[in-house]
Amino acid sequence: MLRKKEWNICLQAFEEMHPHAHCELVHRNPFELLIATLLSAQATDKQVNKVTASLFQKYHEPEDFVHASIEEIENDIRSIGLYRNKAKNIRALSEMLLTEYGGEVPRDRDELTKLPGVGRKTANVVVSNAFGVPAFAVDTHVERVAKRLGMCRWKDNVRQVEEKLTRWTPEEEWTNTHHRMIFWGRYHCKAQRPNCPECPLLDLCREGKKRMKREYA
Ligand code: SF4
Repeated sequence: MLRKKEWNICLQAFEEMHPHAHCELVHRNPFELLIATLLSAQATDKQVNKVTASLFQKYHEPEDFVHASIEEIENDIRSIGLYRNKAKNIRALSEMLLTEYGGEVPRDRDELTKLPGVGRKTANVVVSNAFGVPAFAVDTHVERVAKRLGMCRWKDNVRQVEEKLTRWTPEEEWTNTHHRMIFWGRYHCKAQRPNCPECPLLDLCREGKKRMKREYA
């Protein structure tokens, strides 16, 4: 397993490789970010941005979704995976924002997770990116990179990964590190073909060492 001292080296490497990592979901306000993040489940940011480019021209606030039928919303997001369920959640969530939160996206993670279709990861993305509240969203890239490096156990669940990441990373770096780990996982330590031969963390990465032995020995 990785030691805390080595995790600090990882944090440095993430920053050096991706100093400008950022949220790639295009949005102009917390509501758009909430909708885009909800749409991004099992879809790429690119696919989501393609859909939201026209979606956000048509729907500006929760009221607009409430005035549309679920079928109409389904049609507008049809190219995205799980669109039926997502359309249902978007409409229900918009309704709840209007009735319970005065049409505003709550800044509180626990409140956000009360909204239909909004889990802890989505809530973490929204509070950290839209409101600057420290939070560490663990998506598939973050989880994979953390486990490959050995900063947590393979069998850890998402909550355990989040707990370790927030314990070992300075709070003011949670949001940046989340973005950098996503970029790291998306462009360098990819799911299928991680670039271990050129990785600055190879010497301390359990998965990288194993792969190098297997593939290049
Ligand atoms: Fe990922 Fe390979 Fe680098 Fe480990 S050595 S972090 S598996 S790219």
